Amino acid sequence: MKNKPVIGRIITLLLFLGAGAIPLAPAHADLGIFCERLPRPAYAALQKHETSNDWFEVYEVGPGIWAIYEPFQWQEVISYLIIGTDTALLFDTGNGIGNIKAIVDQLTEKPVQVLNSHTHFDHIGGNYQFEKILSVSTDFSIANSKGLNSEMVTMEVSAEALCKGLPNGVTQENHQIRPFGITGQVREGDVIDIGNRKLEILQIPGHTNDSIALLDREAGFLWTGDSFYEGPIWLYFPETDLAAYKQSIARLAALAPRLKALFPAHNTPRANPAILVEVQKAFDLVLEGKAKPVPTWEGTVTFEFEGFGFLMREDYTRPATH
Ligand SMILES: [Zn+2]
Repeated sequence: MKNKPVIGRIITLLLFLGAGAIPLAPAHADLGIFCERLPRPAYAALQKHETSNDWFEVYEVGPGIWAIYEPFQWQEVISYLIIGTDTALLFDTGNGIGNIKAIVDQLTEKPVQVLNSHTHFDHIGGNYQFEKILSVSTDFSIANSKGLNSEMVTMEVSAEALCKGLPNGVTQENHQIRPFGITGQVREGDVIDIGNRKLEILQIPGHTNDSIALLDREAGFLWTGDSFYEGPIWLYFPETDLAAYKQSIARLAALAPRLKALFPAHNTPRANPAILVEVQKAFDLVLEGKAKPVPTWEGTVTFEFEGFGFLMREDYTRPATH
């Protein structure tokens, strides 16, 4: 959760970035101090797998379900490799700073398809390393598939955004989000059968218009992407639609009684589904003007709740300008 010194550091960083520069990233941590809270307590209950390397930590969070975590970069992104008896699905590919394919190759020899929870750059960075990329097909996804040049993501690999050195060969000058080709479209209700597991696509617009959740109804597992994670959920971007998010979070909360685990895309890899009901209630309070905003940095406020929060524009009641 944020506190005053943290806000000071963020403002310092923004000044360093230049007037009016807001981090492009849908970031989820307190830049500058996030290293101090590592390792997060939730990881004490998990066994780090031997495929972990200097950049990624790998944890088995369910049978054949591998969380591939980037703890040393402020986004603390988590991608998931879900290995079935026939094929494997890689749900997100992270920042593209470390070599995620090398990790995936160690974990499975099955054919791998990539699917993104949404196309913010911190989840598509390794897409270029794979041949099969499934995606919902909105204008937003298609635009993001063209990648981002180094200048757009330089802050993501700056000293302030890291708690250890970059992998060999990666620099602020050469890090970029490489373009990738979408090879197959998915939409609401599609089911990806990986053999012993069926993964259903729920389109849950809000955070972005291409946000999806992945549901294994039989096991009661839900991958939430950035629509829920334990931390301040970033909802201040022009591409965020708060009315759509309200509906989507209500939809996820309605599933909670039948779920056994949530697998979010940042910070911690396994959460209790009951929290979705709290998120729904909290977000309704925010929209009704009944929650207390805490100024965060220029133009944004955070609404803090137990175990999560919402980072929003301070003028969030007005429609976003694109
Ligand atoms: Zn994200």
